[in-house]
Amino acid sequence: MRVDVLTIFPDYFAPLELSLIGKARTTGLLDVGVHDLRTWTHDVHRTVDDTPYGGGPGMVMRPEPWGAAFDALTPVPPDDLDLAPVLVVPTPAGQRFDQAMAHSFAGEQRLIFACGRYEGIDQRVLEEAATRMRVREVSLGDYVLFGGEVAVLVMLEAVVRLLPGVIGNADSLTEESHANGLLEAPLYTKPAVWRGREVPEVLRSGDHGKIAKWRRAQSLLRTAAQRPDMLASAAPETLDKHDVAT
Ligand code: SAM
Repeated sequence: MRVDVLTIFPDYFAPLELSLIGKARTTGLLDVGVHDLRTWTHDVHRTVDDTPYGGGPGMVMRPEPWGAAFDALTPVPPDDLDLAPVLVVPTPAGQRFDQAMAHSFAGEQRLIFACGRYEGIDQRVLEEAATRMRVREVSLGDYVLFGGEVAVLVMLEAVVRLLPGVIGNADSLTEESHANGLLEAPLYTKPAVWRGREVPEVLRSGDHGKIAKWRRAQSLLRTAAQRPDMLASAAPETLDKHDVAT
């Protein structure tokens, strides 16, 4: 997968050298380019913002550097928009990012992220980008950050771990929270007793059937307690007749 990030703070992306994302880059599973948007400014102050039309507080990102950056990153507009890169624009006014969206992004060949700052980006940038890319406005959640950089780091981490070969044991991806509409059951490791607290006996029993049943029950209980909204909107196949008994 090829990922390009446009930002006025390239230094935010230093963590992409680390851990499993860094390893995915070294092994060639992931190719990342982080670009300073100010490269495409032409004035002495390398200006990327200006006052909003219609008034109001704050500044808005001017369209010209974005247009020039898109020209540089996608010099040939695609014949078929369905095969064009996905332009991800983080914004609190976007669709909520979730595991399903992470899976859909993980299936793409190329993602381009446009990190907004100030009050956001001139709307014409998105309209122009839509002539050559599939534009997705995406929100991390119902709160407001200073800029899109941290949102992009979050999305990249969720997407890259889904790329085949990035995580050693692919079972981790099918048995974790949000993989099947439920939250994961509580986890334990050694020692068996710590500060007087015991690991549940069933997990030490070696009976795989009982362990699976216990985990399923815990998963349901935890989801009901922490995220009743998930259970309420669960697809019918998420729950089966055995769950009634647990
Ligand atoms: N004026 C914007 C609004 O009210 O919707 C908020 C702009 S915010 C201060 C600046 C930038 O931070 C946004 O352009 C976006 O890139 C990023 N950002 C802020 N909150 C976000 C969120 N919840 N999800 C994704 N990106 C966010």
